[in-house]
Amino acid sequence: MPEFDYDLFTIGAGSGGTRASRVASAYGARVAVAEEHRVGGTCVIRGCVPKKMLVYGAHFAEDLEDAKHFGWDIPNPTFDWVRLRDNVLNDVDRLNGIYTQTLENAGVEVIHQRATITGPHEITLADGTRKTAAKILVATGARPHVPSCPGTELGITSNEAFHLDAIPRRVLIAGAGYIANEFAGIFHQFGAKVTLVNRTDQLLRGYDESLRDRLLQISIMKGIDFRFHAEFRGIEKTDEGCLRVSMTSHEPIDVDLVLFATGRVPNVEGLGLEEVGVKLDDKNAIVVDENSRSTVDHIYAIGDVTNRVQLTPVAIREGQAFADTVFGNKPHTVDYSCIPSAVFSHPPLAGVGLTEAQAKQKLGSVKVYESDFRPMKNVLAQRNERSLYKMICDEHTGKIVGIHMIGPEAPEIMQAAAVAVKAGLTKADFDATVAIHPTMAEELVLLK
Ligand code: NDP
Repeated sequence: MPEFDYDLFTIGAGSGGTRASRVASAYGARVAVAEEHRVGGTCVIRGCVPKKMLVYGAHFAEDLEDAKHFGWDIPNPTFDWVRLRDNVLNDVDRLNGIYTQTLENAGVEVIHQRATITGPHEITLADGTRKTAAKILVATGARPHVPSCPGTELGITSNEAFHLDAIPRRVLIAGAGYIANEFAGIFHQFGAKVTLVNRTDQLLRGYDESLRDRLLQISIMKGIDFRFHAEFRGIEKTDEGCLRVSMTSHEPIDVDLVLFATGRVPNVEGLGLEEVGVKLDDKNAIVVDENSRSTVDHIYAIGDVTNRVQLTPVAIREGQAFADTVFGNKPHTVDYSCIPSAVFSHPPLAGVGLTEAQAKQKLGSVKVYESDFRPMKNVLAQRNERSLYKMICDEHTGKIVGIHMIGPEAPEIMQAAAVAVKAGLTKADFDATVAIHPTMAEELVLLK
């Protein structure tokens, strides 16, 4: 008789937990994964995937407007939110099924219940069943953080944004990070009056300043409002049925929907972690070493619950490295350098490596190459929206230490450019590469 019911018990079947569980199972481990919501996690069910579909849907607004300059007359196009919403949700159902199937095909037992740790090797399910496991992996992700002030229960988070009955006339978005800027673009394109409210005057902290300025400028030009240095004071429902939002430094504003996009916090509450000795940091994230091992030897954690880099592909790599190391006898760690990322705003932006400010601070002297151009499609469409590409190089070696882009398809182009930065290529390597003409991406090999 084995000592434990399972070799591995994973809590949370998001992107990271799913990868770790099925790879561990493929190595011959007896694995169960518990999921209290839907298999797939934030990215698949209420994050990256449905968001990207809404971004596609939203972009038609501008494409339809631009079409006339390309000879197409499309009289009175109308938008049906419910149709798009339901198509997106149906696809989420499909992906949820595929994720579950993938786990089951890999021989992983999927338990559709909340699980908590009730002893060093013991897990208790919501129905009271107790299970034991040699190793436990916590992959419970994160959830939206909502600032505390009166009336916040009248607002929603990105979790609910995918299920709205209608597109509200006026939307206030709290925060100015990834989710705020992505949903600002989405709601704006669907016809809502959007106001972003942020506690500082900085949007998208961590991205290159020139790109952030460009996004702000284009967003304002499109008609999105910004209120900076505004701390939330409260939300109340008015007699007319709308929401009145009070904040510091600005007059109150009446809107129909408030969306909180003010960061995400690790899901650790009630999991029994501290009771068994798993240490949390000051942000409530599970403290782990480079092998994703917590302060308890046989308990590991990956993904957003560890608050290292809150990105799906990173969680997947952490899950893979965990399974390879612990069950596959192929020890390795995740390389966190040069992680490319993107914001699917309108237009999108993307970056890899150091920003100009970070590079100057780290390297002292840097060379910055830029291309500030209007994409051909925007020229013909008479759309006054300029793209900006930036390459930051070490002045002494010529090595590229960062690339940053804002403009149509920037995330698609960035994925390929990131390979070059990761490989340690130089500006000269880009110069030596023949352009593909006419493209936007060719600007990368023509930078001055
Ligand atoms: P972000 O960290 O990107 O942005 C949070 C925003 O809210 C910032 O503007 C921040 O201001 C502000 N904020 C934070 N706390 C408070 C507070 N207490 N009161 C008022 N304002 C506050 O978080 P998001 O919620 O947008 O997204 C969460 C994470 O999810 C991202 O960090 C990212 O890792 C991931 N994500 C990735 C996406 C992608 O890859 N495209 C898309 C969506 C999410 P300040 O700058 O001053 O801190």
